[in-house]
Amino acid sequence: MILISPVGDLSDELVEAIGGEIKRVFGFATEIEPVLQDLSFALDQNRNQHHSTMILEQLAANTPAKAIKVIAIAQVDLFIPILTHVYGEAQLGGTACIVSTFRLNEGRSGMNISRKYIDRIVKEAIHELGHTFNLRHCPEDSCIMHYCRNEEDVDRKSDQLCRYCKVMLEDEITRSKK
Ligand SMILES: [Zn+2]
Ligand SMILES: [Zn+2]
Repeated sequence: MILISPVGDLSDELVEAIGGEIKRVFGFATEIEPVLQDLSFALDQNRNQHHSTMILEQLAANTPAKAIKVIAIAQVDLFIPILTHVYGEAQLGGTACIVSTFRLNEGRSGMNISRKYIDRIVKEAIHELGHTFNLRHCPEDSCIMHYCRNEEDVDRKSDQLCRYCKVMLEDEITRSKK
């Protein structure tokens, strides 16, 4: 089971869309349970952004054992120190990942999201979860594991893994079941 952990009030349509795509792409059932509610421990006062790596550590530490992976859906602006902002971050081959609606929904709250923004956020959610299954960035620009620098790149890529990444994912899932 893969746990979806919303932070604050989010549109049901978005959460359900992410759950549906997790089932389709990774083949795992999902459950929804907020693991972290308060992200203030990760707030950088100078940048007025949240440090996503710190959130991932707390997320992984608080995830119930029944979940093989956890994805948090945040609404705050996320960063890692070497970049101005990130859409999300993941522990490569680990348990936890996070995606934020902030940039992908152009700063609006996560309650009111149109289809276009839902599609973007869902793609980046699947992308981050892919990293927890050990998938790296893919040079194929239509592949969901392609690294996107801006929202146009996200809109351009498909919602599918390329053939190569699909094989890598199947290998990883088989390995983890042994
Ligand atoms: Zn990535
Ligand atoms: Zn690929």
